[in-house]
Amino acid sequence: MRAVIVRPGRAASDELADVPAPVMDDHAVVDVIAVGVDGTDNEIVEGRYGSGPPGEDFLIIGHESVGRVTRAAGEFQEGDLVTAIVRRPDPVPCLNCANGEWDMCLNGLYTERGIKSRHGFLAERYAEDPEYLVRVPVELEPVGALVEPTSIVEKAVEQIWRIQERLAWEPKTALVTGSGPVGLLATMLLRLRGLEVYVYDRVSDGPKPELATMLGARYLAAAEADLARAAGGDLGDIDIGIEATGYSPLSFTLVDTVSPNGIVALTGVSSGTRSAQIATDHLNMEIVLQNKVVFGSVNANRRHFELAVDDLARAQRRWPGFFEAMVTRREPLINYRSALERKADDVKVIVEVGS
Ligand SMILES: [Zn+2]
Repeated sequence: MRAVIVRPGRAASDELADVPAPVMDDHAVVDVIAVGVDGTDNEIVEGRYGSGPPGEDFLIIGHESVGRVTRAAGEFQEGDLVTAIVRRPDPVPCLNCANGEWDMCLNGLYTERGIKSRHGFLAERYAEDPEYLVRVPVELEPVGALVEPTSIVEKAVEQIWRIQERLAWEPKTALVTGSGPVGLLATMLLRLRGLEVYVYDRVSDGPKPELATMLGARYLAAAEADLARAAGGDLGDIDIGIEATGYSPLSFTLVDTVSPNGIVALTGVSSGTRSAQIATDHLNMEIVLQNKVVFGSVNANRRHFELAVDDLARAQRRWPGFFEAMVTRREPLINYRSALERKADDVKVIVEVGS
């Protein structure tokens, strides 16, 4: 079968190759319909991240998938639409993996399909233990590849509400920094929960401002300094901050920006070496005297995938046309390289594998 593979650790080793069909065991077989691409795929193609399955010298990439079951297993019948969970518990397992919280793995020995020690989904088909499949309703087929990135945001949002059980809390307003897929999907979840949302990003044109507006959010295009000033005045109280750019200085601006008892979730992975001068006394005082919380959130477990499916269906009904606009390009498998290129007006790019 055809699959997009890399030789892990080697830059630009990607190719559309003919690889052996997946080992089926007693697993379901899924014909892939579409796979979304993201920054992690780029890092793997650049040779900066990723590892193949033990004993194999290549890795099939791709982790944001939707597909159709062609060999039944467990509760899944032929023809069912599914997506697959990305991370798998470590073999030890640690306390969290043993409790189904592999997104909270303590020892780092977890595996991830398409990323770390397991083949991914940017292939014509894959085999999967039904325990790691998640049902996708028919109406979500065109956007089923968004379940995985939405699951990441579901976790962050769920954690915000769980942490804030520490107090009486009625959040009304949120500020999301970054209007890429994670920022927009975070905005979508917060709007579904009835919040007013400000979306802050550098760009002032292209599809992002319009996408935020489609969700009923207010888009702020400005330099970082303007965010701090606006937060001090125009925006009023900000109960929740979600950082989704990975531009690390913004994380600290957000901590400063949220109101007393506010909470900031950091979801952006900053892989660079940037350092910045920050007013540590001021930030420390703000956090202590205003009972603020700042936390990091990565990955997702089964519960978050299931929440993502439900919320994508609700959002599709509430904002018709939003996902069609957010998926700015769809490329056939043969053009996977073009899909991986970051073009100016890209928000989400999806590779069409089958039908
Ligand atoms: Zn673990």
